[in-house]
Amino acid sequence: MSIASRINVFGMSLAKMEMLMAELGEKPFRAKQLFQWIYQKEIYDFARMSSFNKPLRDKLQAGCEIILPEVVKEQRDPDDGTRKFLVKLHDGNLIEMVLIPVHGRLALCMSSQVGCTIGCKFCATGLLGFKRNLTTGEMLGQLVLARRLAGEIGVANIVLMGMGEPLLNLQNVIHMIEIASSELGISISARKFTISTVGLVKQLRELTKYKLKSGLALSLHAPIQQLRERLVPSAKDNPLDQLIPACRDYIAQAGDRVTLEYIMIAGITDTMECAKALADLTRKLPCKVNLIAYNPIIDDQGTPLAPIRKAKVSVDRHSREGGNPEGGKGGKLKPFTPHDFKPPTIEAIDRFREYLYPRCPAVTFRKAKGLKIAAACGQLVARVTGAPER
Ligand code: SF4
Repeated sequence: MSIASRINVFGMSLAKMEMLMAELGEKPFRAKQLFQWIYQKEIYDFARMSSFNKPLRDKLQAGCEIILPEVVKEQRDPDDGTRKFLVKLHDGNLIEMVLIPVHGRLALCMSSQVGCTIGCKFCATGLLGFKRNLTTGEMLGQLVLARRLAGEIGVANIVLMGMGEPLLNLQNVIHMIEIASSELGISISARKFTISTVGLVKQLRELTKYKLKSGLALSLHAPIQQLRERLVPSAKDNPLDQLIPACRDYIAQAGDRVTLEYIMIAGITDTMECAKALADLTRKLPCKVNLIAYNPIIDDQGTPLAPIRKAKVSVDRHSREGGNPEGGKGGKLKPFTPHDFKPPTIEAIDRFREYLYPRCPAVTFRKAKGLKIAAACGQLVARVTGAPER
């Protein structure tokens, strides 16, 4: 192996390390040692791997490297302590990860892609477009960085809810959780991870085959198929009557309940029609509902990326009239644009929540965190603005 083709071993599975050691003419147990040095002991310098003899250390030095992503900027929300990190990848691409304080502990919101192909209408990442999937190492790297940044408090939970759709990067996500949860690796239980998906039936069925015990969060956002299609472009090919059974099957093997993430948008998803449809839907699978107030899409200076205007016509009217007035009566409903969205009122949230509970077994309202630094749900865009603030 020449310097020019040095292999980044950070993110390699044990099986891949065994192949590497075989290539280097070494015994398989050396792979186990390398795995432990990197993931368990966090030693990123081959010269410090003292259980290796000098010839092996030299071979690793010559042919391999250990590259982690790097934090280039940190912002902290003064109100709630949420910390957002801009993270640079080896090819210069930027992603974001967020550390969120929850009951005295920290949750890591990790990205799985640079950008996102799905393009949900209320999401800043969706407006960015898609560049590429993150590698296993780039996701594990976020976890390692976050653990360091968290210090003594540590990272209690990890949600794949940052930039990207994790099920469109399925193999790398699975490898990342397998390495992180390995006793020879970082040794974090797979149950501490939650895979948050917009709901892709085929990929969810594929994920179920791996029998991972990680949690599942479905970004439902609308309980009515027609409405969901206007908010979430992938909903058309992943109808609720297929998606809900797929979630039920995943969660049955994981022994948990699915979290239904539900974004409340004034006049669109905070209506009583939606509350009733959502209550009906929750009877079809073990679940809890997490209500989230719509967060205006803003940049990290607080400037709206898509100015909020009052929605002209509520979806209730659309439904009753059987068509969007702009598209003609009975015509195809137009997808929403971010200009149609505004946050719900406190009264609308209370009314919605009171209808849902106790009809739904568990309902929570998630207070948006990191609003001042554009780190709340749907606001991650990964742009460098100004000098590093660390
Ligand atoms: S909400 Fe998730 S799936 Fe939808 S565009 Fe944003 S990152 Fe992609």
